[in-house]
Amino acid sequence: MLKLFNTLSRSKEEFIPVSPGKAGMYSCGPTVYNYQHIGNFRTFFFEDILLRVLRYNGIEVKYVMNITDVGHLVSDQDEGEDKMEKSAKQLGKSVFELSEFYTGFFFRDRDLLNIIPPDIYTKATDYIKEQIDMVKCLEEKGFTYKTSDGIYFDTSLLKDYGKLAKLDIEGLKEGARIEFSTEKKNITDFALWKLSPENEKRQMEWESPWGIGFPGWHIECSAMSKAILGNHFDIHCGGVDHIPIHHTNEIAQSEACNGEKFVNYWLHGEFLDMGNEKMSKSTGRFITLQTLIDKGYSPLDYRFFLLTAHYRRKQKFTFEALDAAKNGYNNLKSRVLNMKSSDEKSRDASAQIISDYKISFTEKINDDLNMPEAMAVLWEAVKDNSLNDGEKLDIIYNFDKVFGLGLESLNSDDEKSEIPDEIKKLAENRTEAKSQKDFKKADEIRELVKQKGYDISDSKEGFTIRKI
Ligand code: AMP
Ligand code: ZN
Repeated sequence: MLKLFNTLSRSKEEFIPVSPGKAGMYSCGPTVYNYQHIGNFRTFFFEDILLRVLRYNGIEVKYVMNITDVGHLVSDQDEGEDKMEKSAKQLGKSVFELSEFYTGFFFRDRDLLNIIPPDIYTKATDYIKEQIDMVKCLEEKGFTYKTSDGIYFDTSLLKDYGKLAKLDIEGLKEGARIEFSTEKKNITDFALWKLSPENEKRQMEWESPWGIGFPGWHIECSAMSKAILGNHFDIHCGGVDHIPIHHTNEIAQSEACNGEKFVNYWLHGEFLDMGNEKMSKSTGRFITLQTLIDKGYSPLDYRFFLLTAHYRRKQKFTFEALDAAKNGYNNLKSRVLNMKSSDEKSRDASAQIISDYKISFTEKINDDLNMPEAMAVLWEAVKDNSLNDGEKLDIIYNFDKVFGLGLESLNSDDEKSEIPDEIKKLAENRTEAKSQKDFKKADEIRELVKQKGYDISDSKEGFTIRKI
């Protein structure tokens, strides 16, 4: 039985899809005004694990992710500039160029991290009509009002507004009284459509029944999920920061317009904690996947690091922890490569043990995606002396459908590319010594390389190097 922690009920619930055997899933994707940092990718990784676990359970998933290329304002209070327009101005580029560039980079990093793409990406600017239609629907039902800068949603008209975040509306009103000076009727009201400032030409703006302007950020997810997955679907996810405002407002809009429950299961990934390293894009100081690559880590070292924490716990990022993950991953890869070079095949006699491992693994991943415990099951199998190499590989490849560490396609040539130049040079010197029949020198070099943590063995092509 698959159990997932539902933010709506604050409890682990059995996953029961709307249509048996199928699931509709929507994730809030990137705002493409800058690079995605490794914190953002912790959330996309968690969503990838969720997708893989659903599929591992034989569920057919229709997975949608949006790309926010308009309407995400710098402040969550519907004030300040649009993040895209601001960044474009700073860089002297058009918002369209900006969006294309950062979306491309996002796709690159996603692929490097072995994150499976959704079935459909929806770009906010491709769904302006659907967003306007939804605002019209809310207007017809009496949930909106007009201010000098746009059309707003009146949150006081919904009895259960804030149910996802368990918002203390009265407390919010008290706390915010001093700053609360806009034309909003209630502190929690939010923009559905923003009007372009009269004296300013925006790069992205559209005609609407209320005047030229652009959609509020939240409406895109309500309108696009409705267009692809319908009024009511199974799973919606994002980072924990989306609970109090973005997802709260998506629920308000969708349920007010559609007149039915929006989503059954809300899942949220906790943040990557960078400690002293600020992880904010607005300060311009943040670590991207490229930063890690430049420092000599492989993207999958970072994926392995992410697997070591449960998605609902804060995970502290330090380079020491990443080094430990890299070592763990190298150790696993080197064991897998050794197993691959053996010709042992699975024996019938081991079928029960293999099946027991798979059951135990399924229990862990189905317990709200418990990756650290699932990883412990993998190591147990790797170290189990009652299994031969073929049997271990059978188990490892099966588990890696969820872990996504590329273990099945791993080959020693790929690993060679990660070998430092110094070690490759030593290996070449050893081949040279051997060709001159200086076996003493060849052995010395082999020993030196071993001390540096690598093993050279002879192969048809000359030599193979692997990390020990
Ligand atoms: P954005 O591009 O700002 O819309 O963010 C993309 C995703 O990253 C959202 O789901 C955020 O909740 C998530 N996110 C932002 N910062 C972090 C962080 N430090 N750790 C984990 N997820 C984050
Ligand atoms: Zn969203």
